[in-house]
Amino acid sequence: MLAIGTHMSIAEGIAKTAENVVKMEADTMQIFSRNPRGSGYKTYSEKEISRFLQIREEHHFGPVLAHAPYTMNLASPKESVYEFACMVIKEDIARMDALSIENLVFHPGSHTGAGVQAGIGNIIAGLDQAVTGQETITILLETMSGKGTEIGANFEELKAIREGVKHPERIGICLDTCHVFAAGYDIVNDLDGVLSEFDRVLGLDLLRAIHLNDSMMPFGSRKDRHAVIGGGEIGLEPLLAVLRHPALKGLPFYLETPLDDEGHKGEIKMIREKLASE
Ligand code: FE
Ligand code: FE
Ligand code: ZN
Repeated sequence: MLAIGTHMSIAEGIAKTAENVVKMEADTMQIFSRNPRGSGYKTYSEKEISRFLQIREEHHFGPVLAHAPYTMNLASPKESVYEFACMVIKEDIARMDALSIENLVFHPGSHTGAGVQAGIGNIIAGLDQAVTGQETITILLETMSGKGTEIGANFEELKAIREGVKHPERIGICLDTCHVFAAGYDIVNDLDGVLSEFDRVLGLDLLRAIHLNDSMMPFGSRKDRHAVIGGGEIGLEPLLAVLRHPALKGLPFYLETPLDDEGHKGEIKMIREKLASE
């Protein structure tokens, strides 16, 4: 079964959001673990949580993905920024794990001038104070476009983070098609080559989720601007090839394209029709 979902707002609560996923004829979802541009979060009643779990089960959702806030920079050399990030990642691993959410993805962060090695060291220490090793949830490092001083635009940096932590078994990878393309991995002309490079450096067994996005910015631009599927520099056919690729079979796909729920419903329908017409 191919699980496709989109990034969803949880303004209406987690159970209502799951209901909206069903209405969109999607079968998984990504949500923010807390306010993406701030620090607040809502707590859910027992009743709401059990309703969420029930909908997810009844409709055979694929793995649900939580996304950490953009304000969280675990690579930062600045003490206040770093302490905030350490607090958020620790709380959100525990909070999302308690909701039986399978994966939590985060942007590794930006070193803002301190250097890649220092940034990676901060990320490792930040994960070590957050991950107990007793969780069920897997924490995913997202592949990044490499804008500014962003860490994670190549597979080697993600490998260095994973191999540096005390509990590497709790760490996986989320591949964002827009980001890897902007970072200079040619998924348009050489998807097989990119995936075998991923396999050589990290191992395909670590890949747990795909962010399926087209890119407004050209190949290798190191700029992060998502486009609707087929409306960007990657194009429809190369993105369908990602969905069809045997090495990615069984993975959940999440759209983060600039559309509302109604638009996403249409995008998922279009993708399913294209995949079925072969
Ligand atoms: Fe992301
Ligand atoms: Fe993404
Ligand atoms: Zn992005």
